[in-house]
Amino acid sequence: MLEYLTPILPGAYLGMLGGGQLGRMFTQAAQAMGYKVCILDPDPLSPAGAIAEKHLEANFTDSAALKEMAAICQAVSTEFENVPAQTLDELEALGVYVAPRSDSVSIAQNRIAEKIFLSKWKSAVHIGPVPYCVIENQAAIDALDETLLPGILKIARLGYDGKGQITVDSLAELKQAWHNFAQVPCVLEKRMDLAFEVSALVVRGYDDAVVVYPIAQNIHRNGILHTSTVPAPSLNSDQENRVLQAAKTLIRHLNYVGILCIEFFVLKSGEIFANEIAPRPHNSGHYTMDASVTSQFQQQVRAMARLPLGDTRLLTPVSMLNLLGDLWFKTGTIDELPQEPDWASALSHDSAKLHLYGKSVPLSGRKMGHINCLGASPVEARQIAAAVAGDLGIEP
Ligand code: ADP
Ligand code: MG
Repeated sequence: MLEYLTPILPGAYLGMLGGGQLGRMFTQAAQAMGYKVCILDPDPLSPAGAIAEKHLEANFTDSAALKEMAAICQAVSTEFENVPAQTLDELEALGVYVAPRSDSVSIAQNRIAEKIFLSKWKSAVHIGPVPYCVIENQAAIDALDETLLPGILKIARLGYDGKGQITVDSLAELKQAWHNFAQVPCVLEKRMDLAFEVSALVVRGYDDAVVVYPIAQNIHRNGILHTSTVPAPSLNSDQENRVLQAAKTLIRHLNYVGILCIEFFVLKSGEIFANEIAPRPHNSGHYTMDASVTSQFQQQVRAMARLPLGDTRLLTPVSMLNLLGDLWFKTGTIDELPQEPDWASALSHDSAKLHLYGKSVPLSGRKMGHINCLGASPVEARQIAAAVAGDLGIEP
């Protein structure tokens, strides 16, 4: 039986654990809807802390800060993938509505738990994880099923943007890679020959309502998302339905309230595998800010405030281009000072929508912003994104 809970109405404070760009765009969406926002993030210069009504500059495990947050906020959510489960539990124990809860977040935080979860539901979902094995001790390496090679060794916790991964072609390389990771728990995945990658953004309300967004097709560069295009140009409608269905089933089995993103691999054979689950809004969902009836951040507000979920309909084809800190450095010389990119050229494309996250220090690989390019078709949107990239000096 679902317990009926009243919505949390505008005027109230909503709390966010993490003050990065996802927290900032959440804050903007919440404020536009009339809420106040309290950010917990130790960084005094955090992008979200800079614009929220309240910024608690403290660690996620700081009990005094959590008490203060609980006293101010009616609901709390997270934008930071690795928020300790205990933080969420502590806030809940203090009487705050926490969505998503720690048990569903902790599965997505740990690649081992995530793979076990995806394997468990494979037959119900019709899509499973890539072939893998858990590497937690030498015995697992000694007993290795060598059909998993060539593979990718990934640390179980705290990896992101391709960090915490080493490709391994042989048993000797696997041993070396695990040694390089200080023998922390890992998963070894078989390296798949990907045709392309897609992701599904899915939202569940506290009342079990589930909505899913059109699937995005993603291109990565150096392990970091480069572009997302919607509708996914290479996905056929049968594959799209399978991915949408899988996302809806998985969010229910996770008993997750809020927004999450699931990444999928599509092989040349047409076979589909689930890669990973991000328990928060996602970079590949930034297109929703300009191309969807309800943005992923408005959806996050709705879910945590126990409001009805918004329409996920796509209003126009779109291609999102990520803007990394490298863009501020043209020559690559050691003492080069950062220079503002040529935004005027980028914006000479009149359907290009620029979003910058207010980060004062550009660094190589750091996500500084993105540009959503709207087009008449996904192919045209992608062409505009490529042209904008070209004008900015990014490899299209
Ligand atoms: P992250 O947390 O860094 O996003 P992912 O597991 O999603 O880690 O890996 C990043 C990228 O590396 C993927 O988007 C994909 O391009 C590539 N990749 C990861 N695992 C595999 C695999 N098993 N086979 C082929 N490519 C992979
Ligand atoms: Mg990923």
